Parts: sequence; structure tokens; C-alpha cells
Amino acid sequence: MTHTVRSTCCYCGVGCGVLIHTDGERIVGIDGDPAHPANFGRLCTKGRTLPLTTGDAGRVLAPMLRDGRDDARQPVSWQTAIATAADRFAAVIREHGPDAVAFYLSGQLLTEDYYVFNKLAKGLIGTANVDTNSRLCMSSAVSAYKLAFGADGPPTCYDDLEAADLVLFAGSNAAFAHPILFRRLEEARAARPGVKWIAIDPRRTDTAAMADLHLAIQPGTDVALFNGMLHHLIWEGRLDFDLIGLHSEGFDALKNEVRAYPPHRAAEICGIDEADLVTAADWFGDAKAALSLYCMGLNQSSHGTDKNLALINLHLATGQIGKPGAGPFSLTGQPNAMGGREVGGMATMLASHRDLANAAHRDELSALWGVPAERLPARPGLTAVELFDALEAGTVKAVWIACTNPAHSMPDLNKVRAALTKAEFVVLQEAFADTDTAPFADLLLPASSWGEKEGVVTNSERRISRVRAAVKAPGEARADWRIARDFAQALQARLAPSEPALFDFDSPEAVFVEYRATTVGRDIDIGGVSYALLEAAPQQWPLPAGEKLGRARLYTDRVFNTESGRACFHAVPYLPVAEAPNARYPFRLLSGRLRDQWHGMSRSGRVPQLFEHAAEARLGMNPGDMARRGLADGDLVAVASRRGALVLPVEAAAGTPSGSLFLPMHWNGQFLQDAGVNLMTSPARCDKSAQPELKHAAVKLVKLDLP
Ligand code: SF4
Repeated sequence: MTHTVRSTCCYCGVGCGVLIHTDGERIVGIDGDPAHPANFGRLCTKGRTLPLTTGDAGRVLAPMLRDGRDDARQPVSWQTAIATAADRFAAVIREHGPDAVAFYLSGQLLTEDYYVFNKLAKGLIGTANVDTNSRLCMSSAVSAYKLAFGADGPPTCYDDLEAADLVLFAGSNAAFAHPILFRRLEEARAARPGVKWIAIDPRRTDTAAMADLHLAIQPGTDVALFNGMLHHLIWEGRLDFDLIGLHSEGFDALKNEVRAYPPHRAAEICGIDEADLVTAADWFGDAKAALSLYCMGLNQSSHGTDKNLALINLHLATGQIGKPGAGPFSLTGQPNAMGGREVGGMATMLASHRDLANAAHRDELSALWGVPAERLPARPGLTAVELFDALEAGTVKAVWIACTNPAHSMPDLNKVRAALTKAEFVVLQEAFADTDTAPFADLLLPASSWGEKEGVVTNSERRISRVRAAVKAPGEARADWRIARDFAQALQARLAPSEPALFDFDSPEAVFVEYRATTVGRDIDIGGVSYALLEAAPQQWPLPAGEKLGRARLYTDRVFNTESGRACFHAVPYLPVAEAPNARYPFRLLSGRLRDQWHGMSRSGRVPQLFEHAAEARLGMNPGDMARRGLADGDLVAVASRRGALVLPVEAAAGTPSGSLFLPMHWNGQFLQDAGVNLMTSPARCDKSAQPELKHAAVKLVKLDLP
């Protein structure tokens, strides 16, 4: 006898609703949820094959602990595991202070999981060393939204996909990365003649190939492009003077900056035709509703925040915001990158869009949590790259990693692996036993996974959906919020036994209710959201108590979340990539996604069907470059940056520009020389968002003539 459980796909930030079919013990099928407003019943290849990733094969089934680095891990009880972890963390904190420990989380975690970890770090231990793999994914978008609008959060919604008459993809291969949204866009274009698409991408991706105009800019030159487009629009006077004059500040400084980017100069920097830049600007200026969809091509950059800001400048200057079909829409990669932002689960934030540096915000939160205000850290903690640098330097001694695989996903992997080797104590809370990070764990804790856990996630359009359990977790695996809670309770017993219990949660709903209380009165207010309401339908934030519907679009009244209520223009100059090619490292290594794989393949790598699109790791190269170097499809090459090298077959990729190479980010140590692309990527990062430049590194390439 099967029954159906309504839930949410665990792969990407589109956040598709799913119907899980289960016989009570196993997940036996899946369908798209016709009632979910993200996907209306559709699923992509990854979502459709989710049931094939469930069951106990390859799972961590019991807590495993080792005494010394050279010992094998042995199964232990949960009680021993939690007590050992609490003893080790408490000892480090007592001897070296709260900043000698750190937590590294994941956009795969549910909001409730994130909330408990964040409260544990900032409210109990008193460290802001709690960062997440979302730092690698969207922190530049967060910084830019805050700088421009005064608060984090996309001002747009998915209905804008159908309402836009100009869609600008900026560093987004949505056809692969956000396939269900892309399908909606395709249908909208087919239904409404006159809709135009522009794609900005150095590569001719599937998305770019379907655009009406593809601007194949040199990697990293996006700011010059946006400044050049704005220069043209200012010159022509095609601006929204109401928004500029009454609802924003900083336009004069911006105007001064973009004087240096006349279209011919901007086009020269970008390596494109001036006419194409002007066409793009004209289409943007003429559009009734211009929607920009942007992703890692802007974010994963040493100037990621500036790239975001330059695009937002275009939207503000032309009034393309706060109305149907218009706005700068950052698409999140992970299923709950948004939830992590909301609960402040990053080293630079406090819960519910509060700031660490703001004493009033710290006071509010300490009162809500019932902890001394002076305990809450006033300065940012270590962001992802800094955190692993500090582990290597020995200033952080113990790290707790939850639901992510930094030994594959961080830039400059050799350094990260050295850091994990050197750490005094590594805890890994993970569903899958064979990730690249697992060998480094002194304590490996079995976490429940998709289809086995309860909570909520927020998708790219600020919509909160329920995630529900359809089956029991295998072995002794437990829900992430519960593991975090048990550890937090054990740690409080050691560090602050006389304080009232801080982690008295008996369910994920109890965690949600406490989190909700922290949002009241904030821009992110979800006082009107409950699990009961979410049973009926997913909801967008903000949705304060007393209101019936969440807000589809932000800033429709042109009142922004800054102190003045005005949006802020930012004059941003074009700056080159951190690591320019030179005679020794003449190629640009670009990374990106495949259609059918997900992140480090911990889950999608278990599904044979998902290898039909790309069966093995291959280095994509421009066919002309291959001919000049005497390379044919399948030839083995060694490719090396200043940090590491890989050997793999090369293949002709017509969409890869001359001088560049393309390697998908997914292939992990099981599939590509015990490592993956990040052996070579650069840890250089944006000074505003701390997001690393995973998209670009200078490399050299040598053909291997094997006998
Ligand atoms: Fe899952 Fe994203 Fe595919 Fe939707 S588009 S089914 S959320 S992977």
C-alpha cells in the first residue's frame, strides 16, 4: 500500500514542490507537485531521479569515532559521540577562547538546522565563526542587495518570468542550473512575441545559444559592460528621473564614474562589438519590464559585489524594479541558501537580517535568546576561506562541518586538505559515507537526508516551503537540527550550566516558532507564517501576523530599507580578474555546471541515468586552440594552475572561447583524480562579500604523449 507525502526537491534553489510516493519503508516514486507555484508539477532530470538516491546504500549508519589520526574510526553510541564532541569543544574553548572553534554549514541544511547551529555559535559559545558553503555561492548577491537596498532579499518573484519583456541572463546558464525556471521562460517567450533575451557569458552555453543577443565578454569584465550600458542610457536620457531624484542617492557619483565608460571603451574592455553593447543598452532602456537573472558568473568573483552593484545600478537608473516583470533577480544555487541568510547562519550576520556590528541588533537578539548581550560577537567571524586558513594556521583548532564537502568544494584544495589534516578535532555530520571530506573526520555523525527529515526551506523567490519525511532514516541517522540541539545542550551543560536552557526544542516546529519570533518587526517578518499555514501552501516573506499573503515583490512603493528610505547607487570601477593569464599560465580556466549533475555529486553521482549527458570528466577546449596544439578529442592533457594540477581527457567545445578552458565543478575525488577542479581554483576573494573567485584561474596545459 503506497501513500504520498508532499515535500520539496533538495537540489537547487528553484525549490520545486514534489509528491513523494512511499510504501512506508522505501521511497518508490516521485512526481512534481501540480499545486506548487514554483514548478506547477514539472521536475527536471535531477528531481525526477531523486528516489534513486534514497535507501541505506552508501550512507553513514552509525556515529564513528577515532582516538588518533592514524586510528580507524569505530562505531560508538550517540551518547558517547555527543559527549566526546562536547568535551573536546569545551576544552578548546576554555583553553583558547570561543574563536578557536568554528562551524562550517551548508545551503542543503533546512532553516531549523541552520537556526540551531547559529544560536549555538553566537548565543552560547560567543563566536561568529559560523560560515557556510553559501559563502561560495551567493554572498556577493547578499552584500550588493544590502548596500543598494538596505536589506538582503531579491525584490522579484517567479511570476516576473512570465511578465518580463526583456530577460537579461548575467553569468547564469539557467538552462542547466535552474531548468524549471528556464522552461517557464521558454514558454513565456513562445506565448508573447516580442520578448527578448540577452545572455552575458564568456561561453556560448545552452542559455546563450537560445538568446537573441549573446555578449561573449572577456571573463570578469561585467562591470565595464554594465557601466558602458548605463553610460549610453545616461547620454540618451532614457532614465527614471522620479526614482533617481526622489527615491535614491548617489547618482551623481555614479554618473561621474560611468563617464569613463563610453560604449566604445567599455566594448573594448569586454572584447565585444560596440554595436552589440549599444543594442543591449537600447533593449534594456526600451523594455517595459526588464528582468535580470544572475548567478555564479557575477557572484564567484574577486569583484562579485561590484558586479552585482553595477547591474543593480542599471535597474535603479531605469526604474526597472518594484513592478511586474522587472528587477535584479539573484538566483540561488542551493535549496536553502536563502534560509541560511534569513537565520543569520553566516559569519557576517545575525538572525533575521540583523548585523553583528549593530549594538541595538545584538541587544534585541540577546533579549530574545536570553543570553548576555556581551556574549554576542560584535565583529564578523571567519568566512569560508579564512576559516580553513585559520585551521591551517592553528588558530582554529576544532571544526564542525555539517552537510557539505569542503575537501571538494573549496578553492585551493591542497591547502584546505592540509588544514583539515592539521585540525585538532574535526566533526563531520553527513548523510553519505564516501565524500572527499569524510576521511578527515575524527567524529563522523550519521545525518538523515532528503525524504527523511522535517522542516522548511526558502527558494529563490523568498518562498518558504515545507520539507517532509516520507520514510525513517536508515541505521542510527538523525535529523540535523536534533544533532545540533543535542550537542548544544551537552555544550551548555559544560560551559553555562547555571543559565536557563537555551536549546529546549522538542521538534523542528519548536525551532521554527522561535526563529519566527526573531523576525517580527524586521523586513523579513514572518509572524504570520506557521507550519499549519504551510500545510495549505508555501508562502513568500515578508508575511507579518495579521496579513493573509506574503509580498510577491519588494519596493513597489519605492521605499527601500535604508535609513533614508532611498536606494543607493554605487559608483563601481571595472577591475580585472585576480589572476590574469600570462606567458607561463596562458589559459583561463572557467568552471560551471553540467545539466544533470549537482554540486559535488554526493547525491547525483549515485544515479546512472544522470551520466547519460556527460559520462566522464573532460576538459572543454576551443576547437581552434586544439588544432593549433595538435590535440584531438580524448587526448590526455595535464592542466595546472599555480596551486595544483589534473590529468584528464580534452574535448572540443565550440562554445568555449579561444584562450579559455572549461571544466565542470561537479567531478569529485571518485571521478577525477581524487580531487576535482578546485585543485586549481583561486582563493582570491571579493573584499566586500569574501566570496572566492571560483570561476576563473590562470592555467597552463600540456599534451601527454603516452606510449
Ligand atoms: Fe529540483 Fe531544481 Fe530540478 Fe526543480 S529545477 S526539480 S528544484 S533540481
